Amino acid sequence: MAESPLDLHGRPLGVLRLSLTARCNLACPYCCPDLEDPPDLLTLPERLALVEATAGLGVHTLRLTGGEPLLHRRLEELIAALQPLRRRDPGDPRGALREIALTSNGVLLGAERARQLKAAGLDRITLSLDGTDGASVARMAGLGGAAAGAAVLEKVLAAIGHAREAGFDPARGALKLNAVVTRSGNADQLLPLAELAREQGLELRLIEFMDVGNRNGWVPEQVLPAAEMVARIGAAWPLEPVGRAPHGTAGRWRYRDGGGHLAVVASITAPFCGDCNRLRITADGVAYSCLFAADGTDLKPWLRPCADAAGLEEALRRLWLQRRDRYSEERQMIRPGEGVGAPLRPQAEMAYLGG
Ligand code: SAM
Ligand code: SF4
Repeated sequence: MAESPLDLHGRPLGVLRLSLTARCNLACPYCCPDLEDPPDLLTLPERLALVEATAGLGVHTLRLTGGEPLLHRRLEELIAALQPLRRRDPGDPRGALREIALTSNGVLLGAERARQLKAAGLDRITLSLDGTDGASVARMAGLGGAAAGAAVLEKVLAAIGHAREAGFDPARGALKLNAVVTRSGNADQLLPLAELAREQGLELRLIEFMDVGNRNGWVPEQVLPAAEMVARIGAAWPLEPVGRAPHGTAGRWRYRDGGGHLAVVASITAPFCGDCNRLRITADGVAYSCLFAADGTDLKPWLRPCADAAGLEEALRRLWLQRRDRYSEERQMIRPGEGVGAPLRPQAEMAYLGG
């Protein structure tokens, strides 16, 4: 693994979240994706150059995201082209990738696509699903009615099966389920989602509704705190804490009856800025050092007309060395004693940053 520069809070770089498109085939109101991509989408060679540069700065895990990454037609080609980076010796100073993961809503994950992704060299898939009935799915995915929600639900349930059959084994952490929970949207889905995940042998990752972007109408009152989610599920199936892995986003819990694990991402009520090692790059090549950042660094000048590998790595190194973001912790401190406050400033949108 290449040695990483440390940012101003002493945090190394370790994970790259690369958004492949800002478009989506769903319209979750907590995310509000765009209908169109920005005009300057990166090409496949440009994305390869970016991943290679970040690997040289310590990135060992790549997460492909969006918008909806399965809308990207060259996804499998990109994953296959990244494989040489994984075959490098871990001690190679140019850096080596250990893992390539994908976050998807699963609607387009048919059996053949799942096999192709596995064959291309994808290691892990996290599928997003916010309810277990048509009406809840429709509400959380911004669809017209319960019938449309039921159709999406059916596809995502099928996608879980396809991913498993293609070799993404949940028992080895290669297949997980994400759910965003809002107080009035789907808090009633906590137990049904936990039950579904337990039946399917999947780790369910419950995500607090976050104030990403400027158009999802976030208000603190809509956040269901992770502690409350754990308490509600733990009342049905007792849980014991496992903890949060270093640099991880999720606090994990184990079902005492042997029913697997539950995880909660508490970026509002229990921020984990202190050891955050994630860099985000948008589909049009703008790097953000925080999910809640207002400004990014456009990397295209080092990618066009052709990639300047040394210049790109230097630009990214400078960006990381100057990084001081700890937005979630600052948000929490803004009104001490009164719970979380309102968003502090305009921010980039979720579908650009990829979660
Ligand atoms: N379309 C893919 C999906 O939904 O899995 C990948 C992109 S999506 C932006 C990545 C993750 O961010 C999803 O799990 C989604 O639920 C989560 N997400 C989106 N908006 C959010 C918000 N405001 N708060 C918390 N999580 C959010
Ligand atoms: Fe699309 Fe994912 Fe955003 Fe939902 S969370 S609108 S599925 S990008």
